[in-house]
Amino acid sequence: MEQTFIMIKPDGVQRGLVGEIIGRFEKKGFSLKGLNLITVDRPFAEKHYADLSAKPFFNGLVEYIISGPVVAMIWEGKNVVTTGRKIIGATNPAESAPGTIRGDFAIDIGRNVIHGSDSVESARKEIGLWFPDGPINWQSSLHSWIYE
Ligand code: ADP
Repeated sequence: MEQTFIMIKPDGVQRGLVGEIIGRFEKKGFSLKGLNLITVDRPFAEKHYADLSAKPFFNGLVEYIISGPVVAMIWEGKNVVTTGRKIIGATNPAESAPGTIRGDFAIDIGRNVIHGSDSVESARKEIGLWFPDGPINWQSSLHSWIYE
């Protein structure tokens, strides 16, 4: 079953959105396979966002991510990478539809509350970086009520 890496950014934690965000993924039917409240240091944040190192907003992005604790998660389910991105909404909250997390809870692109892997390959890399011990191995007993 597909897995994705989801992170509630420091603004999401500070604003008390952790329960709301976890609830949206749970209610959809996805399974939580890893969960960690963690403050990361600069080299770690730079590694996570290495693909964006040439962008003009890179330093500000790293400052933002290390500014407080984040909630790192592994979520599992059919098409969870693509569907997770839909639940999150567009990168710029101004372009995120109402009903998405960024559409409902964010205004500025640099304070957009949540991260989600953009492909199965980046999910694999990000899960490896944030969860070196891998996911927690369990199966929801609701499986046959969610999948045909
Ligand atoms: P996403 O998080 O939707 O996958 P990107 O990978 O393009 O988007 O960018 C990573 C993060 O960098 C964004 O979520 C946002 O926090 C920040 N970011 C992207 N573009 C900008 C920008 N123009 N100005 C400030 N921050 C930005």
